[in-house]
Formats: sequence, structure tokens, C-alpha cells
Amino acid sequence: MEVSVVELLSAAERTEVVIVGAGPTGLTAAVRLAELGVPHVVLDSALAPTRTSNAALVHAATIELLAALGLGEELVRAGRQVHRIGMADRGRPLVRVGLTGLPSRYPFALGVPQSTTEQLLLHRLAELGGSVRRGHRVTSVHGEGTRHVVTGTVEPGGAAAGFAVSARYVIGADGAHSTVRSASGVEFPGETYPAQFVLADVALSAAGPDDEATINLSPRGVTVIGRLPGPNHRVIATVDPAAALPEAPDRRFLDELLAQRGIAARATAEPVWSSRFRVHHRVADRFRVDGVFLAGDAAHVHSPAAGQGMNTGIADAYDIATRLGAVLTGHAGEPVLDGYERQRRAAALEVLAFTDRLTKLAMLENPLARLGRRVAAGTVLRFPWPLQRRITLLGQRPGPQSAATGPPRDRRTVLAVVSGT
Ligand SMILES: Cc1cc2nc3c(=O)[nH]c(=O)nc-3n(C[C@H](O)[C@H](O)[C@H](O)COP(=O)(O)OP(=O)(O)OC[C@H]3O[C@@H](n4cnc5c(N)ncnc54)[C@H](O)[C@@H]3O)c2cc1C
Repeated sequence: MEVSVVELLSAAERTEVVIVGAGPTGLTAAVRLAELGVPHVVLDSALAPTRTSNAALVHAATIELLAALGLGEELVRAGRQVHRIGMADRGRPLVRVGLTGLPSRYPFALGVPQSTTEQLLLHRLAELGGSVRRGHRVTSVHGEGTRHVVTGTVEPGGAAAGFAVSARYVIGADGAHSTVRSASGVEFPGETYPAQFVLADVALSAAGPDDEATINLSPRGVTVIGRLPGPNHRVIATVDPAAALPEAPDRRFLDELLAQRGIAARATAEPVWSSRFRVHHRVADRFRVDGVFLAGDAAHVHSPAAGQGMNTGIADAYDIATRLGAVLTGHAGEPVLDGYERQRRAAALEVLAFTDRLTKLAMLENPLARLGRRVAAGTVLRFPWPLQRRITLLGQRPGPQSAATGPPRDRRTVLAVVSGT
């Protein structure tokens, strides 16, 4: 028998914060709130966590944030350290830039599948007494006085039933097609790039040093190769907008692509995962509507250039959870919440502008412009600091998550951290 909305609302469970979405953004927010002792509920429509490696690069500033949440050592153990970025032109090395001088306790990037990062966050959440309610699809969010009621359907084994949770605050971390965003009437303006991208996790021979990620330029497109933990490499390549691409590129396709671009590496097995996709860049016009906050892909999506998507979402989550924690534990007043949209939307716009420039550089078609790109790449990489800092600390701008000082770990330090932000 179907439950009416009125019945649902009158029986709504009460909590302080509802987090919609248990991807890396929602899980980071949940761990931070659990650490601060804030009652919360995490809802996710999926019956199981991500199994694929999607965001496979974790930057130094993000490792610092995750370390502050108690999972730094495990994360570093689970990943493959990237100490250098190399740039090559049709396989011929142009220049190499070391990351070891980064101003971080973790002076490297980490190749680690998103599924592993999510598992570690889930494990930490469980240690702190938290959990995710799976099969809970949120369909609406609406204000009820000073609270917000999140409603939806539960799908255990296909039999749909309703649920309602009432909270003071809602974090919409439900990805690019966010229901929380549309329920809040927030626009998500932006565009889709013309180029296509190919992605594969595949074992390669002759792919260069294990601790180096390589950006290969060629008239056919840009190919980035980096080593993942285990036997596989991650390959991402831009491909002509008009090219006919298989849904899941196989070993033969990848070998041809590498050979056409002058890259010596070859697949030694079929890819364990491969895909083709087009890339969008969009930023929500608001990150907050009353007590509803958007974070991660729900608030911004951009090109995978420089691997910023998940990293920026984790920084959003740490920021908003710290602010909400400060308010809900009585360490700060509501005005501290105003800084979230100001700071995190500015950070998202900065990430989008940077990844947009990189993506357009990668997609250049004119031979003269491509020559200019090779010269510029050599110059930039001879004076690497600005670029290093940009790639590894981008999107982690000042705020409660400041990587320079290291984030706080307990309630006592929350007020000091959020004051003035
Ligand atoms: C192929 C690929 C490669 C990438 N590479 C990189 C990279 O190298 N580096 C990087 O930083 N980023 C990368 N990204 C981007 C990165 O994967 C995303 O930015 C990241 O997953 C965003 O995390 P999120 O938690 O905000 O959203 P998501 O991971 O999308 O999680 C959203 C969650 O919300 C749930 N949900 C959705 N709707 C509802 C609903 N109505 N009710 C309840 N739950 C709901 C979903 O089930 C999901 O679990 C890549 C992405 C892809 C696809």
C-alpha cells in the first residue's frame, strides 16, 4: 500500500544533517560530522559503492585533508606515489618536473582508484559509528519552518516504500544529476566540450618509470599515462570529435592509438575497464539555498584534465561539514555558514577556468597552435613551481580545510578554524 506524503512527513525521522549521496564528497562530509559528534543520516540510491576506478589521482592537499580524518597512512599504502610529471612529444621526452619539493607533508600525487578511496572513507565512517543507508533514492527536499524534509523511496529488492527525514541542514552530494540541486531550483549552467575522451585501466609494457605520470603531445591528441596500484596503468586520451569510438575500447584499439601517437607503450592484456566519454563543464549558480548546501559534482563538473573533480569535492565536503559542525556544536553562529558559498564557489570557478584552459590546449587542431603548445610546455615546465602548486593545491583555497596549517581533528579546534572565514 502506498504511503501518503502527509503520513510520511508526520512520521519523519529527525536528525541534524542529511547528506544525500555517498560518493567521495558525501562520505568525506559524513566522516567529518561523525568526528565532530554531529548526528546525521547518509542516504544513497545505489545498493553498493563504486567498483570502478574513476578518479584515480589524489593530490597532496587532498591527502592532507584525508589524513586529518584519520586515513592518510592507509591511503598512501593503498596508492602508487607519483613523484614526477613528464611531458613528451610523440614519445620523445621534452621535460620532467619533480613533485618532491611540494610544500606538503605528502610531496607527491597518489594514483589510487576512487573505489579504494571510498572504501577507506566507509571504513573510517564505520569506526566512528556511522553508516550509509543504501537503496534510499531522494526524490524531493522542501522547507518546513527552520527545518528541511528530505523524502524519497526505499528499494530493497524492488519493493518501493517511502521515507522522510527532517533535518536542520541538508548537504546535496548527489553527483552531477543532483536531485537536491533541482529540488532547490538551482541552475547548472555550462557547456560540453566537442572532443571525445578515451579512458582505460590496462597493463602496459614500456610505459616508463612507475612513479611518473606522462603527458604525451601529438597531432592526434593528448595522451596521459600514469601507474595505478597493481599491474595496471591509467590511460586517458583526447580523440577527434568526429571519430567513431567503441563503447569499451579494447587492447587492439589502445595499441593502435598509442602507436599512432609515437608512444612506445603497448597493452599486455585486455583492459580491466575502459570507456569513452564527453566532458562537460558546469558550475551551479548557487551553492546554498537556506539550509541546503551543494557540494562536489552536484555543485561543479569539469574536465578530467589535471584530475581535479574528486579532489575539489572532498575539499567542499570538509569545508561545509566543519562549518556545520561548528554551528551545531555551539562553537560558531550561523553567519559562519555564509563563507561556504563565497569560498567554495570561487574555488570551483578557479578549477573550472584552469581545467578549461588545459582542455582547450589538449584539443588544439591547428598545427601552428600545436607547435606553440610544445614551446610553451617546455618553458612552463622549466619553471615548474607555479604549475606544480596550481595542480596540486588548486581548489583547496583557504577556509576550514587549509592544507598549509593542517585541518583540525577535534571539536575544540573547530571555532578557531572557522572564525574569520
Ligand atoms: C572516468 C572518470 C575519470 C575521472 N577521473 C578523475 C580524476 O582523475 N581525478 C578527480 O579528482 N576526479 C576524476 N573524476 C571525477 C570524479 O569521479 C567525480 O568528481 C567524483 O566522483 C565526484 O564525487 P561526488 O561524491 O561529488 O559525486 P558522485 O561520485 O557522483 O556520487 C554521488 C552519489 O550520489 C548518489 N545519488 C545520486 N542521486 C541520488 C538520489 N536522488 N538519492 C540518493 N542518492 C543519490 C549516487 O548513487 C552516488 O553514490 C573522474 C570521473 C570519471 C567518470
